[in-house]
Amino acid sequence: RAKKEGHNRVCCYDEVADSKMMDYHYLSQDMDRALQEGEFVLYFQPQFSFATGKQTGFEALVRWAHKDRGVISPNIFIPIAEQNGLIIPISEFVLRKACQVASKWETPLKVAVNLSPIQMRQCAISDLVTETLLETGLDPKRLELEVTESLFIDINDEISADLLLLQRRGISIALDDFGTGYSSLAYLTSFPFDKIKIDRSFVQNLANDDSSMAIISAVIGMGKSLNMQITAEGIEDKRAYEILRLAGVDQAQGFLLGEPRDIEAEPEQTTQTPLLPRFEVA
Ligand code: C2E
Ligand code: MG
Ligand code: MG
Ligand code: MG
Repeated sequence: RAKKEGHNRVCCYDEVADSKMMDYHYLSQDMDRALQEGEFVLYFQPQFSFATGKQTGFEALVRWAHKDRGVISPNIFIPIAEQNGLIIPISEFVLRKACQVASKWETPLKVAVNLSPIQMRQCAISDLVTETLLETGLDPKRLELEVTESLFIDINDEISADLLLLQRRGISIALDDFGTGYSSLAYLTSFPFDKIKIDRSFVQNLANDDSSMAIISAVIGMGKSLNMQITAEGIEDKRAYEILRLAGVDQAQGFLLGEPRDIEAEPEQTTQTPLLPRFEVA
């Protein structure tokens, strides 16, 4: 039931955006104030190993807890922040907060942080990441950075070099939303990613669409041969979980296993012990 509610909630945010009820200019103008007043908050969604059923980490997902408008989805405000330039301070906040929170967990779970291609074209990410790790004391091996394919369409050597530098320091680089947009399997050879995240559109079409399974199998094959881990995102039902497990996907993420939540607002206990999936793994 919780799953259903969560799903509807996510849908509603996007529908609001689609119907243009959200005032782009208002949000753009109001963003600086929100940043000063601490309205941006991080939610964390758990990720699990298919092999062990144990939690491996959390993905940090930003929300705007607006004083009048309630919780606003990143799908709405990140594109605005990319245009008005506030993506830079918002990204700095997200990275710092994610590392701070993770450094306090008792179990050394990984934390994954999303990077914006716009942000990465504007400033060197390696300096920011290195400083933040020093400041928070988080082991670089526990940080994962998620980048999207759009970055690699016109990737320049500077960005590549920056990511490689971070990778040599132990940070892992994941390719997010794989399969959307311009993707082709050839992108997987454009950078030595540690991980590929299969987009949830394929995961959600698994049951009624043979071509989704064909794409997933191809990604798994290619990824394995390139020594990359595979995560499936957007797993909402047991059947998809089972199919993906049998297909050889390494990590699972989705509402079935856990929704993004404000773990800071929860009692300490829950964030300090690895969580198990909410159902029995066969
Ligand atoms: P993403 O990185 O692909 O994150 C996964 C999104 O899928 C999240 O949406 C998550 O809540 C949602 N999700 C997870 N499991 C399920 C499921 O089982 N079913 C369904 N229907 N959805 C699921 P969210 O949190 O709304 O974030 C949307 C996107 O906004 C993210 O997609 C990411 O691209 C971007 N984003 C979020 N936080 C940040 C951030 O701190 N920085 C940047 N640059 N982008 C961010
Ligand atoms: Mg992501
Ligand atoms: Mg994704
Ligand atoms: Mg996405």
